[in-house]
Amino acid sequence: MRYISTRGSAPVLDFEAATLAGLASDGGLYLPDAWPTMTRDEIAALAGLSYVDTAVAVMAPFVGDAMTREELKALCDQAYGRFSHAAVVPLVQLDHDQWLLELFHGPTLAFKDVALQLLGLFFERFLAGTDKRLTIVGATSGDTGSAAIDAVAGREGIDIFMLHPVGRISDVQRRQMTTVLSPNVYNIAIEGSFDDAQALVKAMFNDRAFSTKFALSAVNSINWARLMAQVVYFFYAAVRLGAPDREVAFAVPTGNFGDVFAGYVAARMGLPVAKLVVATNVNDILHRALSTGDYSKGGVQQTPTPSMDIQVSSNFERLLFDLGDRDGAALATQMAGFESSGAMRLTNAQSEGAAALFQSDRVDLDDMTLAMRWAHEHAGQVIDPHTAIGLAAALRLDVPAGVPIVTLATAHPAKFGDAVERATGVRPSLPTRVGDLFDREERYATLPATFDAITAYITERARPSA
Ligand SMILES: *Cc1c(COP(=O)(O)O)cnc(C)c1O
Repeated sequence: MRYISTRGSAPVLDFEAATLAGLASDGGLYLPDAWPTMTRDEIAALAGLSYVDTAVAVMAPFVGDAMTREELKALCDQAYGRFSHAAVVPLVQLDHDQWLLELFHGPTLAFKDVALQLLGLFFERFLAGTDKRLTIVGATSGDTGSAAIDAVAGREGIDIFMLHPVGRISDVQRRQMTTVLSPNVYNIAIEGSFDDAQALVKAMFNDRAFSTKFALSAVNSINWARLMAQVVYFFYAAVRLGAPDREVAFAVPTGNFGDVFAGYVAARMGLPVAKLVVATNVNDILHRALSTGDYSKGGVQQTPTPSMDIQVSSNFERLLFDLGDRDGAALATQMAGFESSGAMRLTNAQSEGAAALFQSDRVDLDDMTLAMRWAHEHAGQVIDPHTAIGLAAALRLDVPAGVPIVTLATAHPAKFGDAVERATGVRPSLPTRVGDLFDREERYATLPATFDAITAYITERARPSA
């Protein structure tokens, strides 16, 4: 399997190189040069398989000869063995047609564990036996940071520096990062906002000398391997609900367009998906883009769903590329226009292509609260605010009778306990395996939000790549 960049001019890479690189050198994102497909019989044969065996069947064509099926299975066993539910991602029924797919049974209680646990193992596997090292640098508004740190803590050949905005993430989120005391983990509280932290990370990647010396790598959802790992649960859930003989719809609480793009990939591979609902909060750039063709930045409003409070959805570029005849040069021009003016229009082909599968919905605070109450009162389920954005959209989705609608439950309610308690009156408790989070020692540095301060800190601690 070969990987090409959405902007057409970066080198074509194999799976291993695309995984280690993250972002393409022309500023684009990697994706496969053609979608592998599964026949009806191959999809039907997934019925009854464990999550790990489903994962191997779905991911093997993407991994190609970067590893054997046995190696891939061993890594999946290791990654998903750390989940606290035997089904890894259990389905829960809410009413006749409405379902939840619980993606939060991993070590840090959000769906990002599903992909990052595996990515950490891929990194270690690809570095083993070489003298190469990786320095992972990231900015987090909460969930990505904790999942990435848990995934690489103590792993050979990798250091991780994670920036978070001081005082702007929840205590649970901060402690999930700062209580990991492995010597290769560095937490930095930035005296600034999440956007400041993200701008610093971008500046470090753009500093060629710095990024080459330390072999900087990204773990946000621009990394193709993360999306690939997320394709698996669309197959797993749909097959349990009757695919390939029955179509299934999915409602996806969306920020960076990573999770819902994985659903699109599943559909391209042959999974019968009736609709993919892109559910946004009031930060609705994607809803505007999909409903009117206007992709333009607004100011970010803070909400009880911080993982969806975004200005720009990086992975949307992958969809625009795939729906625009995969013309990298044309997309590079379109994206350059967006980057300079903060706005662009989708082409007719992009809008029409998207409308065939996607439907978008913007969910405000009141509807989010009502969805949390509905889940609690009608189905006895306490759900987190992000999940509630998806469920609110699912409850008003118009699909033919008998089509099951699966809302992706992206975080454990205890991760956002205050918001859950405000909406439902119920205070969710942390699962016992993380219950001592508030008794553990914390370690992190606090630094001013300047390029010089951060790079000096990293230069003193990171180990240069050979
Ligand atoms: C990251 C995240 C999202 C958004 O997912 P994208 O792949 O960025 O669209 C939604 N909910 C939670 C809890 C998250 O952590």
